[in-house]
Amino acid sequence: MSSSYEPVIGLEIHVQLRTRTKMFCGCELSFGDPPNVHCCPVCLGLPGALPVVNAAAVDFAVRIGLALGSEIAPRSLFHRKNYFYPDSPKAYQISQYDVPICSGGCLGDVRIHRVHLEEDAAKLVHIGSSGRIHGSDRSVVDFNRCGTPLVEIVTEPDLRSPEQAHEFLTVLRTTLRQLEVSDVNMEEGSLRCDANVSIRPVGSARLGTKTELKNMNSFRFLQRGIRAEIVRQQELVAAGEPVVQETLHFDPVSERLTSLRSKEEAHDYRYFPEPDLVPLLVTPEMRAAAAERVPELPTDRARRFEAELGLRPGTARDLAFRRELSDYFERAVAADAGATPVEVANWIPQLVERIGSAADPAQSRVGPEALATLAALVAAKRVSRDAGREVLTTLVAEGGDPQAIVEREGLGTLSDDDGDGLAALVDSALAADPDAAAKVAQGNMKAIGPLVGYVMRESKGRADGGEVTRLIRERLAEQV
Ligand code: ADP
Ligand code: MG
Ligand code: ZN
Repeated sequence: MSSSYEPVIGLEIHVQLRTRTKMFCGCELSFGDPPNVHCCPVCLGLPGALPVVNAAAVDFAVRIGLALGSEIAPRSLFHRKNYFYPDSPKAYQISQYDVPICSGGCLGDVRIHRVHLEEDAAKLVHIGSSGRIHGSDRSVVDFNRCGTPLVEIVTEPDLRSPEQAHEFLTVLRTTLRQLEVSDVNMEEGSLRCDANVSIRPVGSARLGTKTELKNMNSFRFLQRGIRAEIVRQQELVAAGEPVVQETLHFDPVSERLTSLRSKEEAHDYRYFPEPDLVPLLVTPEMRAAAAERVPELPTDRARRFEAELGLRPGTARDLAFRRELSDYFERAVAADAGATPVEVANWIPQLVERIGSAADPAQSRVGPEALATLAALVAAKRVSRDAGREVLTTLVAEGGDPQAIVEREGLGTLSDDDGDGLAALVDSALAADPDAAAKVAQGNMKAIGPLVGYVMRESKGRADGGEVTRLIRERLAEQV
């Protein structure tokens, strides 16, 4: 049963914009300041106060739209979305409705439905052990957050698994970070995501009834919540029961889903055009200014690493989705030390492993030129792979020039013309294991392992495995 139904997922992502001031007033944005110190008549919703659109927020929204390949509306509208909630003093939110600032676009193979501008609500803080309003427990409101500029990014229902949703969010976060429009920090709430989930028979073009998972505060929890909801819906369908459209909360500790409310419809919000604001115009000049701030984005960079530098898709993405890694990689490639980009790329995970996965390699003692030189030495077989790893460890600890480290520590590859070094080791390997030598001489190449192993051990990893194999066969052929 479960395999004949496929999940369908669409995401709604709220992104707090990192402007200096709020969406419709001059109050400063702050995170972590004492409560209720950044508010004014506008963001407190006092009668008669008039909103003014924050130009920086519009610029950021256009930047996001351009990065996602959206259509930018030259003229869009603000609407009032009416509802009562203690963290929303006006009893409405200024948002966009039928004419959003950005429409369409995509990120990877997920289509974007729209991107619109709106304002954030205040923050309710529940005081007391239970977190509920009960007995001595209280809820208080911090209006510092009220009126923070938000964009809401809405995808088409193009995602087909919890893993794909996680992956999409990771790419989106990297992209937004690179656009420098948001802190995109889930714990601090500057990135928040709701997931819409349904299932349908495989091959069906019709969408099933969806439920909405609210405001998960980590990508992991979101992925687990979606997974749990898919299972719940599959069990309902298997039992012949309908999926009811509702909003759910996922508790990551108990893995339980509980209903928050039945789904509201757009008409419940009594949307109408915001009478205090004129239409929002995006001029060609505004568009051009935003375009200048859109750098090469992770998906494009990954594509370029594949197409122009020959990296495998996985490697290209691992590098491109972390800007500091890809910047470092590109500087190493530009050093032109004699290694191919693929060879350089292969050393980056080893460097990351040694400096810690969160560290920026540019801040380490290993300069990109040094890494490129090391990659070239190993590629040219002047240093064995094992010895190369040792050189990297030394580089991480002390910095310096790989070539000098190789010479100082005697880590260069032993080769045939290296005096008698390698040839002598091969001879002693053959002498030490005449049985294996005889088998190899008779053509049983499986027996060569211990002989190569002997040489590698005795040379302390300085010999090149391929070269050793070649020498052993050459020596045995001479004996026949
Ligand atoms: P609503 O009006 O309930 O907010 P929308 O049509 O605006 O619904 O879609 C909101 C989000 O839900 C979008 O990300 C969309 O892709 C997604 N979505 C819509 N229908 C479905 C469905 N049947 N299954 C999964 N996701 C869906
Ligand atoms: Mg919705
Ligand atoms: Zn204000």
